[in-house]
Amino acid sequence: MDCVFCKIVAGELPARRVLEDPHVIAFADIHPQVPVHLLVIPRAHVTSLDGLDDELLAGKLLAAAARVAREAGLERGWRLIANNGDHGGQEVPHLHLHVVGGKRLGRMLPR
Ligand code: 5GP
Ligand code: ZN
Repeated sequence: MDCVFCKIVAGELPARRVLEDPHVIAFADIHPQVPVHLLVIPRAHVTSLDGLDDELLAGKLLAAAARVAREAGLERGWRLIANNGDHGGQEVPHLHLHVVGGKRLGRMLPR
């Protein structure tokens, strides 16, 4: 499959990996938007949250995000972002959770 994140899973493209387990990997975003910018993805190709019907995998992804945030030293706080589909701003069509932090982040939603 011609999917950049599947290629990272397969080791065909390099990435700075920070977590690997049988179902999930996490690695540094190639274009970090903030001091810490990690991506958490399922090893299996799932296009977006719209295609995530495996609740166990959903839990593993969330737990992995919290773990890599903790290991990255984001004790002052961090944010989880999942862009889904065209209107959601998703560019890579392999489900990924952005773990972002390392500075105070602006509000994403109006009060
Ligand atoms: P999206 O807009 O789809 O939510 O975010 C995709 C993210 O993947 C972007 O932040 C982009 O910088 C990152 N990205 C795209 N291609 C690669 C790559 O080959 N390696 C890594 N490490 N990150 C990538
Ligand atoms: Zn993929």
